[in-house]
Amino acid sequence: MPRRTELIEGLMQRHSQVPREAVIKEDLLRGGIAFDPSALSDSADEAAGDIKPKSYFIFSFDHGTLPELGEAALRRPPEEIVLTGGPYELRRTVVSVRVNPSSPYRVAADADGLLGLYLDGQRISDVGLPPMPDYYRHKLANGKSVMEVAPTIQWGYLVYLTVFRVCQYFGAKEECQYCDINHNWRQHKAAGRPYTGVKPVEEVLEALEIIDKYDTAKTSTAYTLTGGAVTSQIGGKDEADFYGQYAKAIEERFPGRWIGKVVAQALPKADVQRFHDYGVRIYHPNYEVWDPYLFERYCPGKERYVGRDEWHRRILDSAEVFGPRNVIPNFVAGVEMAEPFGFKTVDEAIDSTVEGLRYFMAHGITPRFTTWCPEPTTPLGKANPLGAPLEYHVRLLQEYRATMAEFGLTSPPGYGPAGPGNAVFSVSSFMDSLPA
Ligand code: SF4
Repeated sequence: MPRRTELIEGLMQRHSQVPREAVIKEDLLRGGIAFDPSALSDSADEAAGDIKPKSYFIFSFDHGTLPELGEAALRRPPEEIVLTGGPYELRRTVVSVRVNPSSPYRVAADADGLLGLYLDGQRISDVGLPPMPDYYRHKLANGKSVMEVAPTIQWGYLVYLTVFRVCQYFGAKEECQYCDINHNWRQHKAAGRPYTGVKPVEEVLEALEIIDKYDTAKTSTAYTLTGGAVTSQIGGKDEADFYGQYAKAIEERFPGRWIGKVVAQALPKADVQRFHDYGVRIYHPNYEVWDPYLFERYCPGKERYVGRDEWHRRILDSAEVFGPRNVIPNFVAGVEMAEPFGFKTVDEAIDSTVEGLRYFMAHGITPRFTTWCPEPTTPLGKANPLGAPLEYHVRLLQEYRATMAEFGLTSPPGYGPAGPGNAVFSVSSFMDSLPA
């Protein structure tokens, strides 16, 4: 049996509590997918085809730069794919697309034109593609596309508003060592693609107006306001007022239409209160990696501007403003094992990660995680092109579920349905692995 197939089947057997779907999804997220030309769209025009294209909503989430991706850069791959059936009898599984032309996983059409996912040459599932939403076919008055200003992900559930496309943690001494936000901005500019650095509030409102009008099924349920850290000011506004101004405008124009979320630094309580006053309902002060030694090295900007202990204190404080259920800090699952400083064994990495989960869950706060994509222009991606071992990701899913159960917690709000076959959260399978 080819080695990758052996790896996933071994893990499915040894960790039968983790859904089979999640094992494959994690492997696709950490290592990417190759696309046969038969599986790519025919048009470079992002609004012309029938398939919803990859929007590059914040990071590149690819295993190569745009020039390295060749055809997959010119003929856009889909935002997400949905897996079903095959020899593992997969239930419906939504997976974010991370392109890697040398991945052992390949999406291709068969002789009848039906798309499948192939591993080591064997077809392991059917592949569905997201239809082009009606709202992507309409442009703003200034000609910008809805996909550029207000893309949706998670099969249309989440409007992803990266309103600040760069980060003020800048350069090797400040940027998080796994993050390519600044590179991604530069590469889109270099490729001549529209990629607005700071999105004007009015443009965001206009794009949301279009989504609201054409999303008649009301699939879009939440929005996330996000972007880089603001260490000084943007347009005279500090971070809380900068991101908060969008929430305020959205809530005034469309009261209660979406659940408002913000990803920002862990700010002092008074600033967090301003987010809440502006109408944000879920706060993501992402702690990235739990271990103190790794946090210092892999998140030098966060360490420098705030510091790990203070970051954690502020997360706990923010629960007094938002309520613990609505404080959902993210960590980047896998960087615990990244060379040169990461843990050398899966056991150590899991122990450390679970210590962090227990710390927050004991306070009623439910962290969540995205699966690390080792983008090649980041220091950690360069040093670890294969990412973390799949075993780490699978064991994390198992421990995450067990730790939540121990503290009596259920799936966090604002992520759509949980459970295998139901989940839409696409950049990690934590929602696929929780009880429905
Ligand atoms: S805070 Fe870190 S992860 Fe977030 S955008 Fe800045 S460099 Fe990237």
